[in-house]
Amino acid sequence: MSARRFGAIEAGGTKFLCAVGSSPADLHDQVRIPTTSPADTLQAVLSYFHETVRKHGSLDAIGIASFGPADVDRKSPRWGTILDTPKPGWSGTDLVRPLVEAFGVPVGFDTDVNGAALSEYTWGAAMGSDVATYVTVGTGIGGGTVVDGRPLHGLRHPEVGHLFPPRHPEDLAFEGICPFHGDCVEGLASGPAIEKRWGAALSDLSPDHVAHDVIAFYLAHLAVSLQAVLSPRRIVFGGGVFDTPGLIERVRETVGRLGAGYFSDPQTADVLITVPMLGSRSGLLGAILLAETAWRESL
Ligand code: ZN
Repeated sequence: MSARRFGAIEAGGTKFLCAVGSSPADLHDQVRIPTTSPADTLQAVLSYFHETVRKHGSLDAIGIASFGPADVDRKSPRWGTILDTPKPGWSGTDLVRPLVEAFGVPVGFDTDVNGAALSEYTWGAAMGSDVATYVTVGTGIGGGTVVDGRPLHGLRHPEVGHLFPPRHPEDLAFEGICPFHGDCVEGLASGPAIEKRWGAALSDLSPDHVAHDVIAFYLAHLAVSLQAVLSPRRIVFGGGVFDTPGLIERVRETVGRLGAGYFSDPQTADVLITVPMLGSRSGLLGAILLAETAWRESL
């Protein structure tokens, strides 16, 4: 695999990260492109890869780990496109075709969280876990699941951030901010939902502020729901909100209490609930793996 050269794109709502490589030890030339209009953003991505090809030679494949919702059904005519999104101008944008037309190489495509789940399964905190879920808690909340090394799809792709948790007794007045559902987990526990209630990021609120218990409660309910439906061996929590000191411990403690020993031994919550080992690179490294899969399937 080290002889291969893959292009990686982590396509996010605020930035596109691009890099070239084949593994955590071989990931280089990383750039950050602000997400503006689809045309300008994709033009900048194409320019970057043209430049890297000039510098280092051709790519074997390209992988895209994208924000959602996205069409990840390989048989669909809209495969590789962003579906209906509140992000202005991006609904219906085809991320794959411009790359195929420009470089003529196989392109792999999946959600950013499926990509992150895949890389944490392959090289990180979920290594060897037959069922593993990666959940990001930041601007939004999303989760990707890998089963025996393959990202889980279905009619679309799982959207675990839009589960409805019970309401925390000290948080009953807040209506939630999800434009589709109001008080789903994303509507209650994402970064913007925290800002809306308390006017600050969770990491800037004092450790005895009620927000810490409220947010840990919602995220723990999400984790227990995942246990009930998927029985993952690892739930990897990443994203900016988890930069808050003590949050992962609060979630673990609450998961142990809510699960009551039914889904797993409560003492195993510290194994089940974990943080990414690949840090902020899990999305880009997921894109490398998506590229590798597309390359293998093209042989
Ligand atoms: Zn929602």
